[in-house]
Amino acid sequence: MSSIDCIFCKIITGLIPSPRIFEDDQFICIRDIQPQAKIHLLLIPKHHVASLDEAFPTQGVSYSTMLARMMELSVQIARENHLLPPGYRSVINTGKGGGQTVFHLHLHLLSGDV
Ligand code: 5GP
Ligand code: ZN
Repeated sequence: MSSIDCIFCKIITGLIPSPRIFEDDQFICIRDIQPQAKIHLLLIPKHHVASLDEAFPTQGVSYSTMLARMMELSVQIARENHLLPPGYRSVINTGKGGGQTVFHLHLHLLSGDV
């Protein structure tokens, strides 16, 4: 499922070109266009879910398996890109007040000058 106005859905479908650090059937990993650290990656599920909050609705199906896979993949990608050492920060912003600007769930991986 993709959302027509969503910039990450456009990147996922290839409508907006963006080189991949990693891609499989469920996720892409790209470099952030405005890096906040020496290395700033975004791990993005291909399925459009607006936020971490929406991934765990009070009623209905949760995306627990997808989230678990996202965390596991983030560790794999961090290893492959030699982020540890020195170390890295894993961030999910939720809601406008939480700093979320793109309403398609994603995990930031930040390393170096964090
Ligand atoms: P948020 O603020 O929602 O947690 O994170 C969204 C991130 O997406 C921001 O760090 C922003 O720089 C990045 N971003 C927004 N548009 C694009 C884009 O078109 N390409 C890439 N690579 N990153 C983007
Ligand atoms: Zn989307």
